[in-house]
Amino acid sequence: MSDRIDLHSHSTCSDGTEGVADLFEQARRSRLDVLALTDHDTVDGWAELPAAVAASGVAALPGIEVSAEHESLSVHVLALLVDPDESTVLGEEMALSRASRRDRARRMVELIAADHPLTWEDVTAQVAGEQTVIGRPHIADALVAAGTAENRSAAFGSILSSDGPYYVPYYAPSPVRVIEAIRAAGGVSIAAHPGSLTRGANLPIELLEAMIAAGLDGIEVDHREHEAPERAALREIAERHDLLITGGSDFHGTGKPNQLGENLTAPRMLERVRERATSGTDLLLP
Ligand code: AMP
Ligand code: FE
Ligand code: FE
Ligand code: ZN
Repeated sequence: MSDRIDLHSHSTCSDGTEGVADLFEQARRSRLDVLALTDHDTVDGWAELPAAVAASGVAALPGIEVSAEHESLSVHVLALLVDPDESTVLGEEMALSRASRRDRARRMVELIAADHPLTWEDVTAQVAGEQTVIGRPHIADALVAAGTAENRSAAFGSILSSDGPYYVPYYAPSPVRVIEAIRAAGGVSIAAHPGSLTRGANLPIELLEAMIAAGLDGIEVDHREHEAPERAALREIAERHDLLITGGSDFHGTGKPNQLGENLTAPRMLERVRERATSGTDLLLP
């Protein structure tokens, strides 16, 4: 049992297009046994997990995809089975990131609006709720609604590009601080899709090594952004350091081509995640 385990997905609490209940209904249809909800910088969706698990029969692993920043590079770290308390260092850092994301989105919209028809209201119309963690995907959706872009990917390839004139960074703590904060909150830290760290010249493998030295628990090896040679290299690093190896779809609903279950995690690895967590947060079984 618990064979089909997908440890990475997003809901409308961040930049996914499906609410938590719909996400788990889709997980059922994709024959998943376990799905981790890992919205960007928030635990908001966790409150809906018990009902979603009961309705779908799919077990839920409560998680977060925490934003970090290293020398202008955006680095993502999955925090699995953490304490959701807002007063932990992790909780405080994520509150800062969320606030900064909001200011930054407003600033990006101001810059874009000088050249394209776009208002802040167009963006908030694409956001599910007051608490939604705003990101470029919501600006993309507003550009699509206005007919300026074909879809999210096209918007990211042009107006929203991180090296374009409209890009504004947002605050996020260092990867090492995030890893330490996840550990302090009793959770398990997994470097999310770190392939880019080994790929680009300015995304050094040294950073992944520093994250491992800081206590990183695992690496998301199986992810659509990793080609086979990269998976092999990451697997080798994980095995050398006795780290956990996970896989996940990074499903964002209709916002990305990623399909639930397209990458999976071995049952033994899920057991090790549960053994390692000390927070009291655990897998929710149907
Ligand atoms: P942000 O954190 O606001 O800078 O936006 C980055 C987010 O945009 C990531 O979490 C991705 O899920 C999403 N994203 C990045 N590239 C694309 C793309 N080409 N198409 C759709 N979503 C994307
Ligand atoms: Fe995302
Ligand atoms: Fe990510
Ligand atoms: Zn993600």
